[in-house]
Amino acid sequence: MAPDTTSSDTTATGAAHGIAAWHAHIYYDPARTRDVAARLREKIAAAFPDAVIGRWHDVNVGPHTRAMYQVAFGHDLFAGLVPFLALNREGLTILVHAELHGNSRAAHIDHAIWMGEVLPVNTAQWDNRAAAPRDA
Ligand code: ZN
Repeated sequence: MAPDTTSSDTTATGAAHGIAAWHAHIYYDPARTRDVAARLREKIAAAFPDAVIGRWHDVNVGPHTRAMYQVAFGHDLFAGLVPFLALNREGLTILVHAELHGNSRAAHIDHAIWMGEVLPVNTAQWDNRAAAPRDA
């Protein structure tokens, strides 16, 4: 059961939780759903001109295990943009995550907000101690 945070919790903005800003990663299949992703991209640009839409990544980058582009936005856009994505994603998988200073791994894994599938996350960039022995 969710706690009652309806009226008095006006401090529940991201800033109160150490969140600098937000990313939405829009995933697509370059061979099958790039056109859907392009349509969503145009809608985002039209409806949220203050959102910063990154370039297309047809090849996996960083922790992302599917082609995607990123949309960066501030707290002020969250309440409008996240529902907009939910209603307009046309079956695309989307990851919404906070930008947590100094804890990118937690942002992408522990605190991830997924729409659609939950995709694997490539943790290699955070696993620089991979050469160390595994915990026994
Ligand atoms: Zn991101």
